[in-house]
Amino acid sequence: MSAEPAAKIILSLERLKQIRCIDVENSSVVVEAGCVLATLQNEVAAKGLLFPVSLGAEGSCQIGGNISTNAGGINVLRYGMMREQVLGLEVVLADGRLWQNLKALRKDNRGIDLNQLFIGAEGVLGVVTAASLRLWPKPFRVATALLALESVADAVRIYQLARQQCGDVMTAFELMPHLALVLAQEALPDLAFPFGSAHKNYVLLEFSGAELLDVEQMLSVFMERIFERGLIVDAVVAQSTSQADALWKFREGMNEGQARRGVHLRSDVSVPISGLAEFVQQAEVALQARFPASEILSYGHIGDGNVHINVLPPAEASHEQRLAQIISGTDIINTIVHKYSGSISAEHGIGRLKRHAFEEQIDPLHNEMLLCIKRGFDSQNLLNPGCLINMVDCTSP
Ligand SMILES: Cc1cc2nc3c(=O)[nH]c(=O)nc-3n(C[C@H](O)[C@H](O)[C@H](O)COP(=O)(O)OP(=O)(O)OC[C@H]3O[C@@H](n4cnc5c(N)ncnc54)[C@H](O)[C@@H]3O)c2cc1C
Repeated sequence: MSAEPAAKIILSLERLKQIRCIDVENSSVVVEAGCVLATLQNEVAAKGLLFPVSLGAEGSCQIGGNISTNAGGINVLRYGMMREQVLGLEVVLADGRLWQNLKALRKDNRGIDLNQLFIGAEGVLGVVTAASLRLWPKPFRVATALLALESVADAVRIYQLARQQCGDVMTAFELMPHLALVLAQEALPDLAFPFGSAHKNYVLLEFSGAELLDVEQMLSVFMERIFERGLIVDAVVAQSTSQADALWKFREGMNEGQARRGVHLRSDVSVPISGLAEFVQQAEVALQARFPASEILSYGHIGDGNVHINVLPPAEASHEQRLAQIISGTDIINTIVHKYSGSISAEHGIGRLKRHAFEEQIDPLHNEMLLCIKRGFDSQNLLNPGCLINMVDCTSP
């Protein structure tokens, strides 16, 4: 295949924005790759259903990109990542042929599941044009609280207790240090600080469930228990949807607040939850020692063992100083991630920037298998060259 048909496919993705069919009884949807995530969420919500993948970029990112990066977001601990939502795919292969597998089955054990090859593949094996996705009942009741606590270790203990005592009603558990709330207020100056004084860390906790599940009562009993154990020092419980939205604005606004601080080191790593608190402490100590004038910010979906450890340099830092900090700070983080048997990319993928670090950390056999798959699907390296897989090795005899 020449490069031209591939280019035409990419261009025509711009037009692939339709929701082809919502099957309410089967709780599934067939949607084209160019549909914006928020559009899909809103369309299925109008039919009483939920598409649970939810993230900061949902107003602009598209289903094809979400599948190709195996996007996660705030609801993973209850519903799983994008991979868990995919029932079938439609994909254009590198030779221009169309593979149509838009099945809507919960069970389909006909050998190797080829859908899985294209999920998180960052477009290097084929171009996803449509997907059949699983839907869920829309939660009828939602209870939201912002907990104030001393340490990341306490946050992990609270998470484990919530898992044991409340099970699947926990739909979000987001850790934020105090600096995150400050950043959110920098971006959204009207956002009122919800506590009388500042605390070291906060957890945004959300319980949700069906009509007969009293999640508000469950949250209130759970909070009493963790307060008695000394795991939280203060808390705010949303009394209305607008109060819950205001609490979520701290989580959403902090991204914009960080962006306003200019170019800086951002990471997206994961470690087993059992080692998370220790990992964060080690990484923060090492980064602060190396960059004493910078602010370190550790936050994220810690119920998934996923933490973003970002470094905000002082305002006067030059562009060159910022780039140098990104390179050496990333090395520091990756070394500690490796020590804790973690991943240097929990959610955002490898792309081009993390490819060398990825290659350095994986087993040679892992790399060999990746190259083998790439050769099988795209021997001429037409699709996303340079991304994820090093095709120089792939094309050599
Ligand atoms: C503010 C913000 C918050 C975020 N929060 C989260 C978060 O909480 N969790 C999380 O997981 N991610 C998060 N992300 C990253 C997010 O996962 C990605 O931005 C999104 O899933 C990718 O979708 P996109 O449409 O932007 O894809 P793009 O960025 O356009 O593409 C991503 C990759 O997929 C490939 N690709 C795109 N479309 C196709 C297709 N149709 N077929 C084959 N390959 C394709 C591209 O070539 C590229 O390699 C965040 C991003 C932002 C900006």
